[in-house]
Amino acid sequence: MAAIQSICVFCGSRVGTDPAHKRLAGELGTLLGAGGIDLVYGGGGIGLMGVIADAALAAGGRVIGVIPKSLSGVEIAHQALTELVVVDGMDQRKSAMIGRADGFAILPGGLGTLDEAFEVITWKQLGFHDKPIIVLDGDGYWAPFLALVDHTIAQGFTQPEAAALFQVVDSVDGILAALQGAPERP
Ligand code: AMP
Repeated sequence: MAAIQSICVFCGSRVGTDPAHKRLAGELGTLLGAGGIDLVYGGGGIGLMGVIADAALAAGGRVIGVIPKSLSGVEIAHQALTELVVVDGMDQRKSAMIGRADGFAILPGGLGTLDEAFEVITWKQLGFHDKPIIVLDGDGYWAPFLALVDHTIAQGFTQPEAAALFQVVDSVDGILAALQGAPERP
């Protein structure tokens, strides 16, 4: 099984109302940084995005941010990253993030995170990549998302096999365990 060298994390550009989300983002950043696994993310310095990047850098990790030129002011592009890739638009951002990572973790976030989560899952469904995708649902934040996916399956709009496109874990340690246990890609 090939070792995971980089993980792309999708998460909120806000910290949300529950302090547990910020804590988990920090824990994951520390775990990645200390474990020598590169963090690929959206390049912002705010919200959970900023928290995870800061924690990974503080633990000695490499952090690669990918941000569209037009958002670098809005999301306050992080100025201390190992590498900041500035792209023209959102499509290039997603392609670059998906291309540069060996696997994906979805942490709590808003509409942007949902967009990124569905994009990486549906690209896998269509065969554009075959990388592991892990949803961190320690506190039930993603329960409505998981219920929505189940609903589309129950109503015959999504094939039942789609439920296996991603794994759900309830702890930060579970993310790495799931990624490392993922079957080797061709
Ligand atoms: P949010 O979850 O809304 O705080 O957004 C998290 C990240 O997703 C931010 O970096 C947003 O710029 C990004 N984002 C928002 N909308 C999209 C989109 N349509 N495609 C890709 N990323 C997006």
